[in-house]
Amino acid sequence: MAELNLPIYLDYQATTPLDPRVLAEMMPYLTTKFGNPHSTNHSFGWQADAGVERARNQVAALIGAEEGEIIFTSGATESNNIAIKGLAYSRYPDKNHLITVATEHTCVLESCRALERAGFEVTYLPVDDQGLINLAELEAAITSKTVLVSVMAVNNEIGVIQDLKAIGAICAGHGVAFHCDAAQAAGKIPLDVHDLKIDLMSISGHKIYGPKGVGVLYIRRMDSIKPLPLFDGGGQERGLRSGTLAPALCAGLGAACHYAAEDMARDHDHITALAEKMKGRLLHELSGVHFNGSEVARYIGNLNFTFEHVRADQLIKGLRDIALSTGAACSTEKVEPSHVLSALGLDKKQIDCSVRIGIGRMTTAAEIDFAIDKIITTVTGIRAGE
Ligand SMILES: *Cc1c(COP(=O)(O)O)cnc(C)c1O
Repeated sequence: MAELNLPIYLDYQATTPLDPRVLAEMMPYLTTKFGNPHSTNHSFGWQADAGVERARNQVAALIGAEEGEIIFTSGATESNNIAIKGLAYSRYPDKNHLITVATEHTCVLESCRALERAGFEVTYLPVDDQGLINLAELEAAITSKTVLVSVMAVNNEIGVIQDLKAIGAICAGHGVAFHCDAAQAAGKIPLDVHDLKIDLMSISGHKIYGPKGVGVLYIRRMDSIKPLPLFDGGGQERGLRSGTLAPALCAGLGAACHYAAEDMARDHDHITALAEKMKGRLLHELSGVHFNGSEVARYIGNLNFTFEHVRADQLIKGLRDIALSTGAACSTEKVEPSHVLSALGLDKKQIDCSVRIGIGRMTTAAEIDFAIDKIITTVTGIRAGE
């Protein structure tokens, strides 16, 4: 049997390990190439700036954008805030309405709630029991006052993928900007901003084997899409995001995008094989297991199961050697049941018995076999009252 290092990491939606190839490309900017990328008077600055611009190109290449359409931020949370609040305020009071989805990431929903408190109106589209929005409902919600539709690509709790191409077409048809939180999707599924007619897109470094604390906002070059900055300062990043860039983090995100593109097919095959095995065995060898979210419209590296009569906290405690989670890591402070699973129609009891299993580039077959066996014995044991 292959050697197994414990504990096993199966929480790839919370964060991913840094790919060693990415770290190698970050190191020069943490050591010798320490210049301020905004120093234009000497080679230290030029060197750092070259690293940032190379990274900008690498990000742009992954999503079919131009390098001038890429803004570096501190992460997808900031990107989402700039896209949503920045764009909303840029068109106010002409336009005062936004559309999003009940299952979005907390930072999207909270940005929308902040806008509601400031006088904007927000439509929160429901999802069906598969986790998908109704496209006719989206189209019907658009009014002459709508400035933005924000729909995520891959859901961080259940892995469901919305029909981005259809959503992009609807938004373009009505002249409404389309923002997509692609933190869980970029580098994992093919995404082309032109093909999908996405006007703004958020990406996070640490969800794609890059560093934490860096992200990107793609902004299509178009007069109607000029978000207001949330920070005032030196006017870096086309005036949209003041503050000195972190060249090491930018280089890391760029490298992560480069390797994501290069490895996408291999990652997909590897992760699909492991995930299908996990899903197949859990559903066949245990009774009372439900798979949450669409089986078809999904990113397979994110599996969400409800184990009847097995509380998730009990299960996670029983699986001491396996790191997995009940859902979003960002809301662990709160004990409220998952807003995503409740939008799917699960009741509190079902939500309490649900866990998310995240499989990624570094997961091995031996780890998955170990995890499956352990989950089966632990679920069986808890049900038997052990
Ligand atoms: C992780 C995540 C975010 C937040 O990204 P940070 O870079 O950690 O701020 C936003 N949206 C989704 C879907 C995520 O998974």
